[in-house]
Amino acid sequence: MERGSLDVKLKHARNQVDVEIRRRQKAEADCEILERQIQLIRDLLTKVRPEPSTPQGKGGVRLHEFVSKTVIKPESCVPCGKRIKFGKISLKCRDCRVVSHPECRDRCPLPCIPNLGGTPVKIGEGVLADYVSDASPMIPPLVVHCVNEIEQRGLHEAGLYRLSGADRTIKDLKEKFLRSKTVPVLSKVDDVHAITGLLKDFLRNLKEPLLTFRLNRAFMDAAEVSDDDNSKAQMYQTISNLPQPNRDTLAFLVLHLKKVAESLETKMDISNLARVFGPTIVGHAVSNPDPMTILQDTKRQPLVGLTHVCSSPSAA
Ligand SMILES: [Zn+2]
Ligand SMILES: [Zn+2]
Repeated sequence: MERGSLDVKLKHARNQVDVEIRRRQKAEADCEILERQIQLIRDLLTKVRPEPSTPQGKGGVRLHEFVSKTVIKPESCVPCGKRIKFGKISLKCRDCRVVSHPECRDRCPLPCIPNLGGTPVKIGEGVLADYVSDASPMIPPLVVHCVNEIEQRGLHEAGLYRLSGADRTIKDLKEKFLRSKTVPVLSKVDDVHAITGLLKDFLRNLKEPLLTFRLNRAFMDAAEVSDDDNSKAQMYQTISNLPQPNRDTLAFLVLHLKKVAESLETKMDISNLARVFGPTIVGHAVSNPDPMTILQDTKRQPLVGLTHVCSSPSAA
């Protein structure tokens, strides 16, 4: 009998060890998944993948390639908005054509996004990929310039992105951006709400929303998973399935909107911003949704775009 009870005890102990081993293995696996997710988010948010042929700043951000020349036809300096006079030296970036005084060069907006020299698509007819060059990060120049200008002087404005600028100004700026070879000087636009308006207008009038038709349902579903961690994991998985221009632009926008939300003076917290941007960047799963779908989607859109993505860690 003694031998028998010893066996039982031994078996019990072995079981406990097995359970403990399995528990640890699971914890390790969970940990690994978490690390992979964090890595994925970092990759998504650090905007630029290393590319040996382009100059890189410390944070891996693509820099301008300035060429200096003597001014013959006066041009405006992008950072300060002032004229560069005849006969003076000006710097011009070979890739994005941003123009600057030599002393203003460090204030030129980054990253450098090569200019396409007028986009060959009619306004309102392009998808995001039509507005980017094939160099990383694939973000439309209009988005980069607007965001940089808004961060320079808009973060103290109450109602940023909720208020709107004059339609006429927005339309003119958009024409200039998408039609001409030079970058309009946004520091000369008095009303910062016209610049936020321009950015919203550009995103809203893309032929396909930023999160794409194809992945619309996947994003909606991810947002509705009740467990927060699973919801986030599913969200990042879906983000990683986006085409690169959409993913780069989304990451760039999310970092920007976090800054807007963190500046208390804007009085625009994440949920306010989500209401403004939800319909614009999430959109619908098809280009011509019926009224019922619009109604249903409108309730779900704000949830999707921002509340989850914005609670992710900042770029490393
Ligand atoms: Zn440049
Ligand atoms: Zn200047």
